Amino acid sequence: MKKGLVYIIGAGPGDPGLITVKGLQALRRADVVLYDRLANESFLQECRPDAELIFVGKMPDQHPVPQHEINRLLVEKGQAGNVVARLKGGDPYIFGRGGEEAEDLAAAGVPFEIVPGVTAAIAATAYAGIPATHRDCTSTVAFITGHEDPNKAESAVDWSKIGPSIGTIVIYMGIKHSEKNIQQIIDSGRSPDTPAALIQQGTLPSQRTVVATLGTLTQAIKEHDIKPPTLIVIGEVVNMREKLTWFETRPLFGARVLVTRSRPQASKLVTELDALGASVTEFHSIKIEPPLDFDPLDNAIMNAADFDHVVFTSVNGVESFFGRTRNLELDIRDLKGPRIWAIGPATRDALLDRGVVVEKLPMEYFAKSLGEAMGKSVSGQKVLLPRADIAPPVLREDLEAAGAQVTEVTAYRTVLDESMPAAAAKAIEAGEIDYLTFTSSSTVRNFLEKCKNLNLDKLMQHVKVISIGPVTTQTAKDLGFNVHTEADEFTIPGLVDALVEFHTDNT
Ligand code: SAH
Repeated sequence: MKKGLVYIIGAGPGDPGLITVKGLQALRRADVVLYDRLANESFLQECRPDAELIFVGKMPDQHPVPQHEINRLLVEKGQAGNVVARLKGGDPYIFGRGGEEAEDLAAAGVPFEIVPGVTAAIAATAYAGIPATHRDCTSTVAFITGHEDPNKAESAVDWSKIGPSIGTIVIYMGIKHSEKNIQQIIDSGRSPDTPAALIQQGTLPSQRTVVATLGTLTQAIKEHDIKPPTLIVIGEVVNMREKLTWFETRPLFGARVLVTRSRPQASKLVTELDALGASVTEFHSIKIEPPLDFDPLDNAIMNAADFDHVVFTSVNGVESFFGRTRNLELDIRDLKGPRIWAIGPATRDALLDRGVVVEKLPMEYFAKSLGEAMGKSVSGQKVLLPRADIAPPVLREDLEAAGAQVTEVTAYRTVLDESMPAAAAKAIEAGEIDYLTFTSSSTVRNFLEKCKNLNLDKLMQHVKVISIGPVTTQTAKDLGFNVHTEADEFTIPGLVDALVEFHTDNT
């Protein structure tokens, strides 16, 4: 029988970028994945589509799957010959009960490997601008649990020694018993003026850091309604935060942004927003699908030489057109007859990537004014428009008004993406979104269609709408949105710039 192997993997404390290369490789191989609440759920997208995923998470104060049951599952799945990934928050051996899991695997003779992770005390402090050690303030650091095994008769933490002698004290699971533990540190002789910090949800876009002193910590926890997962950090190093903060000062930190683009197109926007510190929720409202009938597009492509101009209005149109060209086994060199036009830099670049140089157009042209840009020169000429099924008629009308003979063919269809991710729907209904981003008229229309069974009252009370350009803005206004800002350049980077500017000016 195939021999199983269990990887006990530290996934880091939240930011999915903090898993190790080895951990990610093991996760991607696994037949079975057991994961915790503290391990970021985005890791699940890395698993094999046929992997068995088992949630064994623990909510505070409740254990849906008892530890012995997790251990038993690991042994059972390993013995059955599976590659098992046991994904745990932070590091598996730092207050993670990884030791107990490994003990049972060892006892049962199931091969296992430990993949260390970045523990919260290292990562959350760094993300809060606090170095755990610094030669100017401390040479010692201690990781301590504030929540020991409740069955233990006596605490193993001797605060009277730790309090006065350890430079940086980091307490895990410290909120529940904070009052008692903090008092013990003060009683040990540590000055109540010692700088201290609370780092909630460290390394995540929802990270919150509250700075206090040892003497005011308990009050700060209450005042700021601090909840787990939170680290308590005590020591002079906390003062370094004034100089070393970086994560929380990024331009979009704390902004909750909803992305409505289609899934394949969203990633560039999501990556840019994420890098600027935003908390991004994906709520894909449109899906790009092939035309129901390829004949009109195929015929137009095969007879492209008959046209004087081909106008591409989107990257999707370019992809579809050249995808079909390939399908028909045509040589793009046969396309040399018509002049090729592109609306917007992304469309132009998509053509350039395929070796096609387009006519020069001022950057500010968008669908509405391309007809003007091409101008009188199109009178009596044949223009091919490979476009979306629902493209607005303006461009065609403008070209026809200029005397052109226009052939419009459906290169792709824009349809409603009906997927309803539960977390996104919940955030929308709770009004926990600060910005809606619309990148086309169809994202606006389909967003509303997709939300027709959701209650948008709370969202609409304070959400701000960011639009990619005037056509999208007009559609959003027509559908009842108040548009707060619009991109100067009608591109994704332009939209991001507009959002950053608006957020900076209004927070
Ligand atoms: N094995 C984990 C710790 C698990 S114990 C690790 O190595 O990080 C759970 C405690 O860890 C929480 O109560 C909290 O004190 C701390 N913790 C885990 N993730 C955290 C995060 N993202 N921000 C702040 N504290 C965190």
